[in-house]
Amino acid sequence: MCGIVGYIGDKQAFPILIKGLKRLEYRGYDSAGIAIIGEETNTFKIKGKVSDLENFVVNEDTSGNIGMGHTRWATHGEPNNDNAHPHTSTHGKFIVIHNGIIENYSTLKESLLEKGYSFKSETDTEVLANLIEYFYLKGGVTAEEAVRFALQKVSGAYALVVLSHDEDDKLIAARKGSPLVIGIGDHEYYVASDATPIVEHTKSVIYLNDFDIAILKKNELSLKTIKNIKITPKIQKIDLEISSIEKGGFDHFMLKEIFEQPETVLNTIRGRVSAETKTIQHGGILSVLPQIVNAKRLIIIACGTSWHAGLVGEYLFEEFARVPVEVEYASEFRYRNPVLYKDDVVIAISQSGETADTLAGIRLAQDAGALVIGICNVVGSSIARETTAGIYTYAGPEIGVASTKAFTSQVTALTSLSLMIAKEKNTIEQSLYENLISELVEIPSKIELILQQNEKFRAIAAMYKDAENFLYLGRGFFFPVALEGALKLKEISYIHAEGYPAAEMKHGPIALIDKKMPVVVIAAKDKSYDKIVSNIQEVKARKGIVIAVVTQGDTVIRKMADHVLEIPKSHEALAAILAVIPLQLLSYHIAVMRDCNIDQPRNLAKSVTVE
Ligand code: GLU
Repeated sequence: MCGIVGYIGDKQAFPILIKGLKRLEYRGYDSAGIAIIGEETNTFKIKGKVSDLENFVVNEDTSGNIGMGHTRWATHGEPNNDNAHPHTSTHGKFIVIHNGIIENYSTLKESLLEKGYSFKSETDTEVLANLIEYFYLKGGVTAEEAVRFALQKVSGAYALVVLSHDEDDKLIAARKGSPLVIGIGDHEYYVASDATPIVEHTKSVIYLNDFDIAILKKNELSLKTIKNIKITPKIQKIDLEISSIEKGGFDHFMLKEIFEQPETVLNTIRGRVSAETKTIQHGGILSVLPQIVNAKRLIIIACGTSWHAGLVGEYLFEEFARVPVEVEYASEFRYRNPVLYKDDVVIAISQSGETADTLAGIRLAQDAGALVIGICNVVGSSIARETTAGIYTYAGPEIGVASTKAFTSQVTALTSLSLMIAKEKNTIEQSLYENLISELVEIPSKIELILQQNEKFRAIAAMYKDAENFLYLGRGFFFPVALEGALKLKEISYIHAEGYPAAEMKHGPIALIDKKMPVVVIAAKDKSYDKIVSNIQEVKARKGIVIAVVTQGDTVIRKMADHVLEIPKSHEALAAILAVIPLQLLSYHIAVMRDCNIDQPRNLAKSVTVE
């Protein structure tokens, strides 16, 4: 949600900011803007994408060695030129870019209006710009002090970068609740919402913590809290390759990420799951293994696609580790006064590791004394840092807004974790355990086989691209896959789709079925195979169109379904990872044929750092 980038050094800031904003555009693309200090300070902002901003400034003076840029995902005020960031304070003393929500902005705004401050936008961010200026103009304080005083008055979340008119040799950056990373170059500093704009310039970074404030000058970095307590910067090395954040010949990031899955799933199990020794070792949770093993209950908290992965996790942990599991939307969990016990273990799942609701759920669980472990993709992210232990999925940067490889890696991590715990608890037979390990390491090559059928998926997509509704059905491990398939279609093609447990169809959705309704049924071989075959019959009896995901060689469903999408044979507990791949490709092709913006679907943004 909103991308922030800043630069201070000897280079020209403009190209660095534009390139950085393009890398961050997955976070929002409602409007874009920059402010650069050159001969004088220039601010440009416009509704639309970063490329619109680039065209807009083509004949403008964008020279200067200090600057900042923003790509917006609107929360307060519609996407238009006025609401675009940066925002300049009433008397022109401060320019601010911001990611997050200032929750008490309306009270602050009223009192600033009474003091004579004016507002050009509807944003909460402009309130911040004016509040900083108010403290500054009261007199006797520096720009940094004014920022600190202002931040002590705001509630909500922010990552922000501030330029001061009077102290134009510095960038002031601060965070609470929204991510911010500082890159340390040679006599230069970068600041950004994530490391992707920084990585081609330097690998040395500092992740800001909540309530940190950084003052960046060309040759000097000072880090403190907003209460003015000095902090010693913890410099870390990032391990991120440029190639992993570029499209690499694919038309879209989403397609690239779908095709990366053989490798990304392998990365999730590499060094952890061994087919030779028949062992699973997640080093990141070893320190808390006894607590997980003795947990009376697991609570999985997540949002969106990660929540679907969590549902697969529920089936896995209950099946193998025989522990009760609850899967919660983090946004509901955090506000529901949930009953938590000290021997609960909470698993927080988030691709970005920055999801605001999941982070809040983690803090709530920790306050109640529960152990929280994280499953995240982004190394060094807030969730990774705030949880006691965890598992990185190592799927590499996911740029497409519709999550694909992050999901399969999350499910892979949950699968291997559930087996590791089951083994520790002795709730799984050795032969099944060994068999599942052998199958797990074969998953990447099985994904490869599914991807080879891409043309077939495209042909089916062409037949149903104009459908107005889709239904997705599955049972057991395939129910969350049905939810995920429906979500993918909604997100990128804007076709209404619903996922349902197949047996629940009779309790409502069956009324929707007619000859125009494609019904995607995930019907790979599992213990409820006969039941799902009956569900397919029920759909066909009402003239629905059945697109079935089946196990390779299935001849029964082939005879009754309109189309079959085959996945290689595997244990049902692992087939969720395979079954989602045809659904990802189906959604992708339908969206392409409908001329939708694949990587930046309307109204969405990745990394939901606002509530
Ligand atoms: N609240 C700010 C705005 O609407 C920033 C939004 C965000 O970070 O998502 O402009």
